[in-house]
Amino acid sequence: MSDHKERFVQWLDQRVTNAGLGTEEIRSAVDPSGVFWLGRLAPEQDAMAETHRERRMDPCSVGMRVKPATDGPWTFDVRVRARGWNRITAASNDLDTPEEWHKSELADVPIRVEAEPGMSSFDFGVDELTFAFRSAGIGVATAAVQVSDESWRGSPELVVTVVNTTPESAHPKGERYLFEVELVVEGLATAPFVLESLPDSFRYERELPAIGINCGVEVRQGKLATRDTIVVSTKRPTFRFGYTAEDKLDLSFSGLTDDPLPRLRQLVDGYARWGREAWSPDALARRQSGGPSWSPEMIAEAERGREAYEAELDRLRRGVAALESSPQLLRAYRLMNKAMGKTAMRRDITSWRPFQVGFLLGVLPSLVEGRRDWNTVEIVWFATGGGKTETYLGLLVLAVFYDRLRGKHSGITAWSRFPLRLLSLQQTQRFADALGSAELVRREHRVPGDPIALGYYVGRSSTPNDIPVEPTKDNPIDVEDDTMPARFNVLLRCPFCAARGVSTRFNRRHWRLEHFCSSPSCPSAGEALPLFVVDSEIYRFMPSVVIGTLDKAALISMQAAMRGFVHGPAGRCRRPGHGFTYAKRGSRPSGCLVPGCKEPNDVIKAHDRAMFAPSFRLQDELHLLRDSLGAVDSHYESILDDLQIKNTDTDPPKIIASSATLAGYERQTETLYGRTGRVFPALGPSVHESYWSASTTKTLRRYVAVWPRGVTLEWVSDRTITVLQQSVRRLRTEAEVVCAQAGIDPVHADELLNLYGTNVIYGNTVKDVEAARRSMGSQVPIDPLNTVSLTGQTPFDDVRTAIAELDGPPAEFDERVHVVAASSMFSHGVDIDRLNIMTVLGVPLTTAEFIQTTARVGRTHPGLVYVVHKIGRERDAGVYSHFQAFVEHGDRLVEPIPVTRSSRRVLDLTSAAAIEARRLFFHEPRSEKLKLTTTDLLRDHHRTVVTTVDDETKALREMLGIRDDEHLLDADLRRAVEIYFTKLNDLGSGARWPADILHRRPMTSLRDVETQIPISDD
Ligand SMILES: [Zn+2]
Ligand SMILES: [Zn+2]
Repeated sequence: MSDHKERFVQWLDQRVTNAGLGTEEIRSAVDPSGVFWLGRLAPEQDAMAETHRERRMDPCSVGMRVKPATDGPWTFDVRVRARGWNRITAASNDLDTPEEWHKSELADVPIRVEAEPGMSSFDFGVDELTFAFRSAGIGVATAAVQVSDESWRGSPELVVTVVNTTPESAHPKGERYLFEVELVVEGLATAPFVLESLPDSFRYERELPAIGINCGVEVRQGKLATRDTIVVSTKRPTFRFGYTAEDKLDLSFSGLTDDPLPRLRQLVDGYARWGREAWSPDALARRQSGGPSWSPEMIAEAERGREAYEAELDRLRRGVAALESSPQLLRAYRLMNKAMGKTAMRRDITSWRPFQVGFLLGVLPSLVEGRRDWNTVEIVWFATGGGKTETYLGLLVLAVFYDRLRGKHSGITAWSRFPLRLLSLQQTQRFADALGSAELVRREHRVPGDPIALGYYVGRSSTPNDIPVEPTKDNPIDVEDDTMPARFNVLLRCPFCAARGVSTRFNRRHWRLEHFCSSPSCPSAGEALPLFVVDSEIYRFMPSVVIGTLDKAALISMQAAMRGFVHGPAGRCRRPGHGFTYAKRGSRPSGCLVPGCKEPNDVIKAHDRAMFAPSFRLQDELHLLRDSLGAVDSHYESILDDLQIKNTDTDPPKIIASSATLAGYERQTETLYGRTGRVFPALGPSVHESYWSASTTKTLRRYVAVWPRGVTLEWVSDRTITVLQQSVRRLRTEAEVVCAQAGIDPVHADELLNLYGTNVIYGNTVKDVEAARRSMGSQVPIDPLNTVSLTGQTPFDDVRTAIAELDGPPAEFDERVHVVAASSMFSHGVDIDRLNIMTVLGVPLTTAEFIQTTARVGRTHPGLVYVVHKIGRERDAGVYSHFQAFVEHGDRLVEPIPVTRSSRRVLDLTSAAAIEARRLFFHEPRSEKLKLTTTDLLRDHHRTVVTTVDDETKALREMLGIRDDEHLLDADLRRAVEIYFTKLNDLGSGARWPADILHRRPMTSLRDVETQIPISDD
């Protein structure tokens, strides 16, 4: 039995669908062909006059394609239902009298079809339809049922449609349309279609009973019926059941802090027992007997699935063994659990989900002696449930503690990158919370080293690169401006005590932009919180974990103080509070980054610097690294790896990634990192159940595919919002009526108003979002209608205010936010339980974005998602045609990820960066004066160490990861190096700065190429 929230969602959807069809209207003051967006059919003659694309937007027929199970001829029944609208009064010339339209009765027409094999389009039921239409009061419209056999690959395929055949006439448009049209096929035995784009055929239901033509198709009491919207309900997963049920296995933070080993052994033993059953030949045979017999290909796929499971089980066993063998790792693991438990407690979460524990175990063998699989990219994939971020936060905290215990007391442990320009505040907060708890645990357990801190490395897009002594043209930040610090507040609450209202201040003595908590009971006691948001402070303090946008990798060719991201800094300033020092420059003679500091520093010896090398690089949303961005990043990844290897004689960092889709990850990790990728968890033999999760009967989200017919996307969006808001507001004025209709107890009215009173409109571009918002302002007759925009252009402060308000809304409904207009900035890391209804305007460019975006609603309660298709676009039309599979298994659908590293255009951009990165991070620390800031110094250095074009080309080739067989790239690179050295040695050129002798300027952001990424095809 569904619960009251599920029933309310169904009721809401029914309101919207009825409004789209016009089922609840019998009178209208305007032509209905401009109002209703579902169930209508345009006259064929009008449609024929349109271009193909426009015809698709206001179709003249609906129906389905079916495969008869037997050879023809075939006799079956088609039932057509339709209504019409008649204009009773035309509008007066002065427009004082509006039009008046009345709806007809329902025409319900059974038609017998006798179809021959190979028949081309033939009309059935013309007279019956006309007669029934006139009897129902439909004034002028006519129709026909058209049937043809479009045999394909030797097997018959019948196309059955109802077509509006109304001829051209002087009648108003709306009278020539048909409305609320439905076509039902009965009495025909059919065979299913098979969806080929789904891999792993043994796991999936790939069969479709029929293919809709301009509509969806549903099976209703054994009959095939057209549907005006396609509804797909996804099911909420459970994570604790079977061997991992809550009462059988203790995965609480406290249990894993006190005594983890027995619990972990039990988890792994359970996995072994589960696998013996689930992957046994018997179990697989049982699955086969439930459906059509397996092809050799399916059997081979199942075999590979079992092997992946066994490899995973082996890894988890080794993870337990790693903890058994290393007391340091075990202690770090326990401290991590304590810290993560502290954070989770605030959200009333007391234990891990099994897959989170499993993922962590799988990575542990890389951390101990032998560094097993160090170079394998570990990908967290968990499409159906939340908890991904906490999973890798657990890993980060563990890695930080482990570093401290093995003697690394300072420096960056991990650099976590997000592909978007802006990090969501909620995402940042989760990192700050986890690391804040880790710092409290560190203090309590007297773990040595610097405070555990977080670096927010986003500089320029939302926080400063550095704070200048006086404002300059390039950097207008003014330390005298009292309102300045507040602009860079990135916290929603205190990571130590969770108190709201963290403030920021500028500390002149330490030249630091500090976040602080003024709650009297806070463990921070008013001191600065362990968070750095200014780039130069991140260089000075090298926080244990740095989070930021991918763009920042571009700085590796410009910023000598990024040394801590690949090895160690030059020294430490003797003045307390100044932090690490870097290469000396005119503006910082001692290498200290605090303006004007001349204090000497303690040099960090070359062999001590290796200890600073980061252990992990994380990549969130791996699937977004495609096209030009992926190509450029692949070279920067190589540069970072190469600098770390050459400078420290150790491994490059291990790479951890998360991805919303599974299709194509192997090629992507190979291209981006030159490493093999591995996904956790391995899939179970059924998509509905694995060891780690299983589907329940509870609704997660109700997805509704909408094909707007004959009206604009904005109109549909506006009408949808209008109906949703009007309907939910009835809970305030007539709760009894609403609840009776929906079949729920009125006692829930307030809760439902709270959970379903805010709508999200999602646009794929900022332009779409703004258009929707403008249109809403004039077309949605609801008052008050409070709207906020959340796009990449929304100022930081407004985002913070909006999120806080959505999370803790005002008591009065009228004062709440009713509509959130959002773009892709909203699709990551926003986690608000009250957001449960979304309208998506046009199918997002990638399946991953669709998954991420719609996952923002229905996080805890049943969600409702309208996907309004831009049906004129090929992609949208394609998604509509297999909407169910797209929603249920979108993450597995084969969708090529275009990414390559062998692009000469990209090399032209990145080779300049590589040359500069080598100057700053390789040559400069090895130069006599530790300074290569001018062409003169650089020339002297290369003469002294006798660098040749050959040497440098070879080194750069390695640095950029160019393969031996990539001759064109190699030749381009050599030419760039030749030009470089020719210019360097040309004393007459007057070039003073090293950047002047490059073949081009290095990119300042990895997004410099973004304009070349196709964003949309319209
Ligand atoms: Zn506090
Ligand atoms: Zn200093």
